[in-house]
Amino acid sequence: LSEIIRQRAWVEIDLSALSHNVVQIKQLLSPKTTLMAVVKADAYGHGAIAVAQTVLQAGAKALAVATLGEGIELREAGITAPILILGAINTPEEITAIAHWNLEPTLCYPEQALMVSDTLSQYEKPLSVHLKLDTGMSRLGTPWHQGTEFASLVQQLPYLNLSSVYSHLATADDPDPSHMYLQHKRFKTAIDNLKAQGIVPPRLHFANSAATLIAPQLHYDLVRVGLALYGLYPADHLRSIVPLKPVLQVKAKITQIKSIPANTGVSYGYQFVSDRPMKIAVVGIGYADGVPRNLSNRLQVLIHGQRACQIGAITMDQLMLDVSHLRHVKVGDVVTLIGKDEDQEISADHWAKMLGTISWEILCGFKHRLPRIKQ
Ligand code: PLP
Repeated sequence: LSEIIRQRAWVEIDLSALSHNVVQIKQLLSPKTTLMAVVKADAYGHGAIAVAQTVLQAGAKALAVATLGEGIELREAGITAPILILGAINTPEEITAIAHWNLEPTLCYPEQALMVSDTLSQYEKPLSVHLKLDTGMSRLGTPWHQGTEFASLVQQLPYLNLSSVYSHLATADDPDPSHMYLQHKRFKTAIDNLKAQGIVPPRLHFANSAATLIAPQLHYDLVRVGLALYGLYPADHLRSIVPLKPVLQVKAKITQIKSIPANTGVSYGYQFVSDRPMKIAVVGIGYADGVPRNLSNRLQVLIHGQRACQIGAITMDQLMLDVSHLRHVKVGDVVTLIGKDEDQEISADHWAKMLGTISWEILCGFKHRLPRIKQ
């Protein structure tokens, strides 16, 4: 089947690279810190089920998703590890489903905690919950200086088992760590205040990939690692810390080769016009697969270990390459858009830099039309 799927364009997922990354990251952790693998957004585009199974086998102990649907998908696949839902849950219907599927919600504010407790009372079923403090991200969570009131409410409400208190960093990938340490100071103060009131959360967590790589003092009981699992670094200054291997490659096949004379427009809008006779290759991948149209005329790809430039507008399902300098190209040859070909490599980071975005967005951008082929 994988040979049939490979006819047009596909994503290759290297599960042994994923396991390697888990082992590398675990080596940074003390034995008391567990690894929670962040597999939201279909495991950053890699395929949540296969990624979850692989990381759990390689030593991760828990999973995090963004939405209820993502959690249910993993449970339906038979995954029994603890699953934290990082996103907001605001309705009794969602809580009923969370209890049914044995998922663990994040509690962000008092009214929500009341709603969760009320809903659980109907079933007389307790649920592990995770309390989120906002220490400076200004996204989900109770303001850190109101953490004690919030935690004591949660402790008093029936059917809520406080499983952890956590917060999320806004600038951990910045070479200047001062904001990260300010957030950490607030987190520590909030936890000290809780403890002073006799509330001792079973577990604390704070670190994402960047903080896991550079700040062991932020590891606490658990680290929530996403990007680094997939073999990418949150920032260039973090590259030397552990050797990670990219997990995802994007490939497509050449579907036609043709010669065009000088002065010929290529693709919609004639953004490219040949200045000489050229040999061009048509490739079966386009922006509907997640190759951003904004990379038109800037993208480079690899064919037989050599670079080729993409020319003209990237279209919905296809794009064109200048292969004038390549002797032995033919229909059916594999084009690597992201990944390795012989000694050449193109990374998602490179695309992100060209587009003025971050590698997280590039990984999440590959569409379901590209089958994920696991290796
Ligand atoms: N924790 C939370 C709350 C997140 O939203 C995310 C991802 O955005 C992560 C952890 C993982 O972050 P990273 O991919 O930088 O490791």
